[in-house]
Amino acid sequence: MSAVMPSPRDAHGRPLHDLRLSVIDACNFRCGYCMPADRIPDGHGMDSNARMSFDEIETLARAFVHLGVRKLRLTGGEPLLRKRLPELVARLAAIPQLEDLALTTNGSLLAAQARALRDAGLRRITISLDALDADVFSAMSGGRGRIGDVLAGIEAAVAAGFERIKFNTVVQRGVNEDQVLPLVERFRGTGHVLRFIEYMDVGTCNGWRREQTVSSAELRDRIAARWPLRALGAGYRGEVASRYAFEDGAGEIGFVSSVSEPFCGDCHRARVSADGRLYTCLFADEGTDLRAVLARGEDALADHVSGLWSRRADRYSELRGLPAVGQRKHVEMYLVGG
Ligand code: SAM
Ligand code: SF4
Ligand code: SF4
Repeated sequence: MSAVMPSPRDAHGRPLHDLRLSVIDACNFRCGYCMPADRIPDGHGMDSNARMSFDEIETLARAFVHLGVRKLRLTGGEPLLRKRLPELVARLAAIPQLEDLALTTNGSLLAAQARALRDAGLRRITISLDALDADVFSAMSGGRGRIGDVLAGIEAAVAAGFERIKFNTVVQRGVNEDQVLPLVERFRGTGHVLRFIEYMDVGTCNGWRREQTVSSAELRDRIAARWPLRALGAGYRGEVASRYAFEDGAGEIGFVSSVSEPFCGDCHRARVSADGRLYTCLFADEGTDLRAVLARGEDALADHVSGLWSRRADRYSELRGLPAVGQRKHVEMYLVGG
């Protein structure tokens, strides 16, 4: 077992607490804000042997835990497309220092897998859900998804014992604004938590324009006009969502305002792609290959990542809009998983 290493601080004094790990870059959806169908062909995805094996992933997770990571989120692409995912979950759930193991999914394949994931030790699920209306949902998934499959996935997750499921909704102006109140109505009072994520300029494919982003403030005002809200404090340091409770006691909702209110100062998150590249920011360009060092074991990798993290100076969202910054090439969202 490795020695405990001091938790590194980056160039702005930020520690490393969270790891977001993509297990696959392929997806069965083509959401226009992430993998638009006219830009990303069907069948897109790296060779399966280019992806890290479960042995590599476990070693990598253990190395990050040595550096202070306590929260690990599995993502993609669509993580439920990764074969034998419950087996990986079981291996990661067995790492004692890991306090929080979570998964983000589009929910379309969840009905068949919720029970196995739960049995493997997964305790938290986030489901992306941008619409309840069948046509809007289908259009937003690039014609690939059916709302009925996701609703069946939610039901299966609840039946398997998942509680307080988080739902992530990206709102695009003129596309699914009319879904906001129905979504709130649906999940109020269920114990689940709906979170609105501002549409971001991630990647290079979505043709983002600022006017397509509906700000959290605007959404909050619209929702509060129907169901009065009260601000809550952060659940923990570095929490990215601002939380609000319904005044009538029907639970809470959240807003992630990466465009209108950047939170780089508190960003404690590293991302690793399915082929083992480290990205220290969602808007990084190239990333750094970790696999060669990973082959030398968890201590060597922890040491290496500690050095990389110490040199991290990213704060893209705070600099967005500066001419030279806006034109930089960004990693695709489906490679690093949000
Ligand atoms: N496929 C899974 C899913 O959709 O939940 C996991 C990966 S997906 C890249 C993770 C999250 O990124 C989703 O909640 C999605 O809505 C969000 N996302 C993708 N592109 C985005 C964008 N341009 N702006 C804001 N959020 C985005
Ligand atoms: Fe796939 Fe998730 Fe991206 Fe949609 S947001 S295209 S479901 S990876
Ligand atoms: Fe973190 Fe980069 Fe997002 Fe800022 S822009 S919050 S540094 S991921």
